Amino acid sequence: MSTPPSVYPVPEALAAQAAIGRGDYERLYDESVRDPDAFWARAAQRLQWMQVPTQIRDVSFALEDFRIRWYGDGELNASVNCLDRHLHTRGDKTAILWEGDDPATPPRHVSYRELHARVCRLANALRSLGVRKGDRVTIYLPMIVESAVAMLACARVGAVHTVVFGGFSPASIADRVADCGSKLIITADEGLRGGRRIPLKANVDAALKLPGTNSVETVLVVRHTGGAVGMQMPRDRWYDAVVDDQPDTCEPERMNAEDPLFILYTSGSTGKPKGVLHTTGGYLVFASYTHEAVFDLREDDVYWCTADVGWVTGHSYIVYGPLANGATSLMFEGVPNYPSVSRFWEVVDRHKVSIFYTAPTAIRALMRDGDAPVKSSSRASLRILGTVGEPINPEAWRWYHGVVGDGRCPVVDTWWQTETGGILIAPLPGAIDAKPGSATRPFFGVQPAIVDAQGTVLEGEAEGNLVILDSWPGQMRTVYGDHQRFIDTYFSAYPGSYFTGDGCRRDADGDYWITGRVDDVINVSGHRIGTAEVESALVSHPKVAEAAVVGFPHDIKGQGIYAYVTLVAGEEGTDALLKELVAHVRGEIGPIATPDHLQWAPGLPKTRSGKIMRRILRKIAENAPDQLGDTTTLADPSVVESLLRERRGAA
Ligand code: ATP
Ligand code: MG
Repeated sequence: MSTPPSVYPVPEALAAQAAIGRGDYERLYDESVRDPDAFWARAAQRLQWMQVPTQIRDVSFALEDFRIRWYGDGELNASVNCLDRHLHTRGDKTAILWEGDDPATPPRHVSYRELHARVCRLANALRSLGVRKGDRVTIYLPMIVESAVAMLACARVGAVHTVVFGGFSPASIADRVADCGSKLIITADEGLRGGRRIPLKANVDAALKLPGTNSVETVLVVRHTGGAVGMQMPRDRWYDAVVDDQPDTCEPERMNAEDPLFILYTSGSTGKPKGVLHTTGGYLVFASYTHEAVFDLREDDVYWCTADVGWVTGHSYIVYGPLANGATSLMFEGVPNYPSVSRFWEVVDRHKVSIFYTAPTAIRALMRDGDAPVKSSSRASLRILGTVGEPINPEAWRWYHGVVGDGRCPVVDTWWQTETGGILIAPLPGAIDAKPGSATRPFFGVQPAIVDAQGTVLEGEAEGNLVILDSWPGQMRTVYGDHQRFIDTYFSAYPGSYFTGDGCRRDADGDYWITGRVDDVINVSGHRIGTAEVESALVSHPKVAEAAVVGFPHDIKGQGIYAYVTLVAGEEGTDALLKELVAHVRGEIGPIATPDHLQWAPGLPKTRSGKIMRRILRKIAENAPDQLGDTTTLADPSVVESLLRERRGAA
């Protein structure tokens, strides 16, 4: 077997055509850190301001003098930037291309003009219901056009939206409503995913019976499936009844650049969700700039990000970034494997998608089913592929590049967080050579550094904790209602810098490799081993579909390696295979990474956004089922039960 390449150079044609080509990156990056005021003042010109900012940045990460302000005297409205300013040049262009759960449902093309009118009608309705600048509005909707309409209508009247993923339970809704004291909830009768109905309105009813939720005065209900729901008057109102007769223009609120745009609760992989607060000006500059540069966006692109609007990826890269850029953004209601595992590629062909952005978890799941379901489609329209959410195993990266992209399309591995508002590390496709498993280089203005446990900044080739030395415009400004938690969580571990919580390696070329969360790094006999590395070694075995690795207390080594392995469809977990996999990891990484325990896992506990919850797997490995902690954000809690049963059987 020949060794696959470790570097995938920028395709020559793209290097020549891309807005940011070879050489441009170094020049612009250099300028962005040498003279950030000039750089970001120029970047701000991409937006339409009601008052153009003259103060660009006012930042200090020092604890005694802490502040983060961008474009502090600027005024703008996010919805105007995403809608009104495109009306002259792109009024008839499709803003949102909606594809339903069932392929038989006709897709919808919502033009910028129509989207503008719909947003204005809802914005007027919100005002008529007493929603004012600064009020919080909870959005609990499926992936339908109204979810973008709702976000932008809130932005128009200056209300702070907080989107709760449509798969969350009543308890999760109640927690989030109580935390931010929202006044109004926008929901739908039901959601639809993979042919199943999700009782959204009933979940809201149950949530509003829980303590702490009586701030809610109104529930607006979109008729989506037409399923029967109970309406409690006067609290509950049908969306169409309140919205349809409203005027289709609406005076936008003047917002200061530092006024809040939204609160979004983090996905909860590591504990109690935090209300991450983003503001208006810096966020929108950063979301739109990164979206244009990282995906090499062009006017006629059809851009599809498969995330849910309930995650930050949906905020920045389905709604705000693409619409601020006047792009066509595809919104998909369904799931990758319904009605068949070819669905993604059928949608790509149907709508001639040119930019496709998804998560490693989806790529690995589709890879399990082999190449045939992909190869039955053309995918000739694809130009750029992206990934986000977790470290991508090189094996999965190569499959994505080689099979999905037919080896033609650059893959941009984008590292970022809810907290960062937009992409911080990624290979700009026309400028930076890609490496499977590496997010490569920082975006303009982003200054990553690798520090050791004492906080010493390591130079050159190094591995340790990833911090960011200075602010960027899309940075979160606070944890809603708990500014001290914001400072304690992100700025105390390494004073003077933002701590990401992720481990990272920088190679000899200066490219960055995220090794996983710092909590997930395992210390075996004094050697730091990234869980991502061991997982990638396991996934590179042809019979392994997915793997999750955690540390557990070990008498001699300090920590041992515990691996959970999901096999490819049709393979069986025999003792012989177990030995083969252990030997495979030894061969790939070395004896130090030898798994001490390997457990077959038919499924892995994941958050609703598809991330493996290693916190829970650690407890299972430790055989401490009573310490599992909060499991309400799990996609399928029954997975935990079956892993625990297996664990007990093996012990
Ligand atoms: P919580 O903070 O509540 O525990 P979370 O960290 O999963 O949840 P997100 O903000 O959605 O919530 O995820 C950001 C994290 O996802 C990053 O800190 C990193 O660990 C991981 N991540 C995202 N993109 C990448 C990527 N391209 N490569 C490696 N890791 C990534
Ligand atoms: Mg996080």
